Amino acid sequence: SAPLDVERIREDFPILQRRVGDDVQLVYLDNAATTQTPNQVIDVFGDYYRGYNANVHRGIHHLSQEASIAYEEAHDRLAEFVGASGGREEMIFTKNTTESINLVAYAWGLNELGPGDRVVLTEMEHHASLVTWQQIAKRTGADVEYIRVDEDGRLDMDHAAELIDEDTQMVGAVHVSNTLGTVNPVADLAELAHDNDAYIFVDGAQAVPTRPVDVEAIDADFYAFSGHKMAGPTGVGGLYGKKEILEDMEPFLYGGDMITKVTYEDSTWNELPWKYEAGTPLIAEGIAMAEAADYLDELGMENIRKHEQELAEYAYDRLSEFDDIEIYGPEPGPDRGGLVSFNLDSVHAHDLASIMNDSAVAIRAGDHCTQPLHDKLGVAASARASFYVYNTREEIDVLIDAIDDARELFS
Ligand code: PMP
Repeated sequence: SAPLDVERIREDFPILQRRVGDDVQLVYLDNAATTQTPNQVIDVFGDYYRGYNANVHRGIHHLSQEASIAYEEAHDRLAEFVGASGGREEMIFTKNTTESINLVAYAWGLNELGPGDRVVLTEMEHHASLVTWQQIAKRTGADVEYIRVDEDGRLDMDHAAELIDEDTQMVGAVHVSNTLGTVNPVADLAELAHDNDAYIFVDGAQAVPTRPVDVEAIDADFYAFSGHKMAGPTGVGGLYGKKEILEDMEPFLYGGDMITKVTYEDSTWNELPWKYEAGTPLIAEGIAMAEAADYLDELGMENIRKHEQELAEYAYDRLSEFDDIEIYGPEPGPDRGGLVSFNLDSVHAHDLASIMNDSAVAIRAGDHCTQPLHDKLGVAASARASFYVYNTREEIDVLIDAIDDARELFS
């Protein structure tokens, strides 16, 4: 029996009823970029703006109190969702995964890194992590090294053990690769990091939406994710950090709300997590992201993981039927997430996506913000189909038919 009742789930997502182009039923397979939003989450915005819109933390009046409570409790909810027992003090709301990484790179990296220090990343990092640490390393004189990705699309853990040494201050690793689909052994990387007194920052943008995540079981020092990839809204993301590290770190952005006492000469910082949330925050978005967590938990994160694995396996098998298709990343299995990147010999990925669009199939074509990895794979771009809770095998069949059309058109 199917772990998720997909027929019923689809009813929660009004956008899935859309017809596009020549009045064709939309097949949305671009979930690694952004997932769709269920009514339960959309309704939070209406409730908020109709019912209790007000600035948080500073008001004595009713609306401000209601907004403050909902916003603060949303932090507790997201902390719980990723397994952080410290509650709101360990959960900072940011704009997205990218900002979460930048927050630590600026607030910690600029102050703590210097010549002779090492940052160890993986060859499959998203630009959000790769470019950020690369540039902060340049500014501080630190070196960046990259853990090799092997032929199967997995990390070479012997190489990881070589690179992560006593000079290493930070390990940055993507939990689930948005290009290869690889689920990385981040707990093992955390152990290597901690054995060398380094921190580990895990990029969970593709993991939090698709599988049970427990930051404490991983022993991550920092862990980032985005609302818009987990059935939540755009404009909001999360940064988990261990309380003792967040307490020691300098702030990232300065301004209102993040202070306790200000004089003309100096300022002191607010308690966690508000020390890292300067100015008016993403109030409606944060509350809506908590609703998304509720929605996903109700479906069951382990059910979601199984569903993703099944769809990835089906897509992988169907794409494997063709000799002229190259698939990137590991064989299907528990260490592969719900996305498949591939190339069709005769057709450029962008043309393929464009022909798919004629059949109302939404996929991604490009470098998926992993240019160096694509260089390593020897291609400039790839096509990527990525799945979520509402996708079906029948939609993958439509994808395969559209690939047939493309092949015919270009042969
Ligand atoms: N990391 C990974 C693995 C991603 O897939 C993405 C989104 N493509 C990001 C980081 C960046 O997320 P955002 O654009 O929400 O900051």
